[in-house]
Amino acid sequence: KVNEVLEVNEMKSAKSGEVEWEDNLGYFIKKKLRVWCRLEDGKWESGMIQSTSGDEAFVLLSNGNVVKVSTGELLPANPDILEGVDDLIQLSYLNEPSVLNNIQYRYSRDMIYSKAGPVLIAVNPFKAVPIYGNKFITAYRQKVMDSPHVYAIADTAYNEMMGDGVNQSIIISGESGAGKTETAKFAMQYLAALGGGSEGIEYEILQTNHILEAFGNAKTSRNDNSSRFGKLIEIHFSAFGKICGAKIQTFLLEKSRVVQLAAGERSYHIFYQLCAGAPSFLKERLNLKVANDYNYLNQSECLTIDGVDDAQNFHNLMEALDIVLIRKEDREQTFAMLAAVLWLGNISFQVIDNENHVEVIADEAVTTAAMLMGCSSDELMLALSTHKIQAGKDSIAKKLTLQQAIDSRDALAKFIYGSLFDWIVEQINKSLEVGKQCTGRSINILDIYGFESFKKNSFEQFCINYANERLQQHFNRHLFKLEQEEYELDGVDWTRVEFEDNEECLNLIEKKPLGVLSLLDEESNFPKATDLTFANKLKQHLGSNSCFKGERGRAFSIRHYAGEVPYDTNGFLEKNRDPLQTDIIQLLSSCTCQVLQLFASKMLKPSPKPAASSQPGALDTQKQSVGTKFKGQLFKLMHQLENTRPHFIRCIKPNSKQLPGIYEEDLVLQQFRCCGVLEIVRISRSGYPTRMRHQEFAGRYGVLLSEKQLSQDPLSISVAVLQQFNVLPEMYQVGYTKLYLRSGQLAALEDRRKQVL
Ligand code: ADP
Ligand code: MG
Repeated sequence: KVNEVLEVNEMKSAKSGEVEWEDNLGYFIKKKLRVWCRLEDGKWESGMIQSTSGDEAFVLLSNGNVVKVSTGELLPANPDILEGVDDLIQLSYLNEPSVLNNIQYRYSRDMIYSKAGPVLIAVNPFKAVPIYGNKFITAYRQKVMDSPHVYAIADTAYNEMMGDGVNQSIIISGESGAGKTETAKFAMQYLAALGGGSEGIEYEILQTNHILEAFGNAKTSRNDNSSRFGKLIEIHFSAFGKICGAKIQTFLLEKSRVVQLAAGERSYHIFYQLCAGAPSFLKERLNLKVANDYNYLNQSECLTIDGVDDAQNFHNLMEALDIVLIRKEDREQTFAMLAAVLWLGNISFQVIDNENHVEVIADEAVTTAAMLMGCSSDELMLALSTHKIQAGKDSIAKKLTLQQAIDSRDALAKFIYGSLFDWIVEQINKSLEVGKQCTGRSINILDIYGFESFKKNSFEQFCINYANERLQQHFNRHLFKLEQEEYELDGVDWTRVEFEDNEECLNLIEKKPLGVLSLLDEESNFPKATDLTFANKLKQHLGSNSCFKGERGRAFSIRHYAGEVPYDTNGFLEKNRDPLQTDIIQLLSSCTCQVLQLFASKMLKPSPKPAASSQPGALDTQKQSVGTKFKGQLFKLMHQLENTRPHFIRCIKPNSKQLPGIYEEDLVLQQFRCCGVLEIVRISRSGYPTRMRHQEFAGRYGVLLSEKQLSQDPLSISVAVLQQFNVLPEMYQVGYTKLYLRSGQLAALEDRRKQVL
């Protein structure tokens, strides 16, 4: 019994999901099989075990060195024929070094796409790889090429939509700079090529990327063109499979970037493009200066990006606005609002008493901002430096302190920019309107921020990770469903596996009235609350949830599916309230600028809730908190995705230098862990990851049979091979078309084959 030991081991591992293979080292020594060996620096090297003593082993590495390591630092490596397989599910041993090595092998040969079962893994090449464009689109369309590719995913989605009439979604995730947005664009490009009609709407759709990127992308330390919002684009098709409209939804734009920048980062591209590229008549009309003259832009001492021509991009943007048919008046108002935001940032204050109360300094900044907004300088100055309080029938204007005044100015700038962004998306949607010839068939492409865990995590990370929990739930459900459906279709006797869901974590965040979001809203409505009282409330009420951990002071941790993340509640209340004083809203509704009136009217919409307190610090208007609004958006998104067949793409950033050719193992591993590649692997392990058509299996291993069975069909030959080698019945399943093997089984057979041939 050649693979007896392995069988026992694999049986254990199949049950527990753990590889307890240390008992089988002897087998690996005898057979001179390769292993992975973790060296002191944490790196995995391949080698062969020479001998063991106790729990130590001597390993001969590929470079000729012999090292002594603890047997706990060894893992089985895959046979050579499995090197660089295009689907990780083909690996006999699914462990971290094998997965890492396989992806690296492919990456170093510019094979940036791989599959992990149903999931596409895309490693950012950080250079142009010649695998895109019409030639490749045609090749994938005609199935001349079938190696993993975003085109292949888009093609499957399109075919399934047309063939089965089921709407599809392509869900792209990954950390900042991993290539999500580029991948989404390639998917759009493929669909545009397939679904291009006579109207040229597909071209319009591609152009929206320029607009969204100008207004929603910025240079960060991780990515020179980082999207600071999540986006879902629905592409609609006619009965003939032609594109007939599109709709864009955006999520949680990072507004703080408008007023505050980290060193070396930039604000939204559009500001620099406008300053550099506006024609002189526009510059004059908006009283535009160079970017360096604006406080909101010059604070980070980073005004340009290597290899990026802001002026040129302004021209490209104007073209895109033309193509997407954004009206001239709307454009003018947009530019005026952008200039107003910049000038607001230059408004300064003067302390006038020893209580730190301020007045606005009447200078060019105030007069220009007021002119652009369509109000008088006096009105703007008053709104920025005072707060009206109702005292009986009268209202008294109370002077603001310096910090309050700065906050209120910045809040105004953020509000204008955030509203402008939403409004532009609305205008784009009007232009791409889903027409009558549309049949309701659509493909959604979701480009959303991946799981984040930094040293310090704030409200933004909380929201992002919450979104990822929701997506992960969706992912789990579908992955299991798909897998189990395949077994059932192929007639495999299969007991349904239960999967570990993340319900508990979602409960922790969403449950009413005792969940993080509810408690956050409760505290946000309570004027005297602080971030500390909020943290205490969490600890008081959520301690019993196993995903929650109270930490010292303002801190708490959440055990997310991708790992534990420590959060600091500092700023949570303020960010959740995202306050805008009534005085400012009133000012905006009195401005002659139409878009500002429109923005203000959205804030004044009557709400069923009773009026909130008018004390500063409390939610000043009837608007929803940021957390609650985000939750609502996510629910809507999930509902929409639930009605589609999902295709998952996980983008991986191979290095943090944004350079080609560098593969940082630790960084990649951390992403595999976070974005659940190992989770997929774990799920696959509980099933039968090795699948081979009977024909293929019989062709390869039939030679091992002691009695030739030439007359027989592939299925019988497959079964005969399995029986001859005493592969235990738990280790395989015979389907109608394929043989399904537990992990590790193929490696043993392959080893046997080598000896015979
Ligand atoms: P994300 O949206 O995940 O933050 P991006 O899609 O903006 O990341 O990618 C960051 C950068 O990486 C891009 O600006 C581009 O230079 C490079 N990049 C990403 N994907 C590819 C690709 N498939 N081919 C070439 N370059 C890419
Ligand atoms: Mg992006």
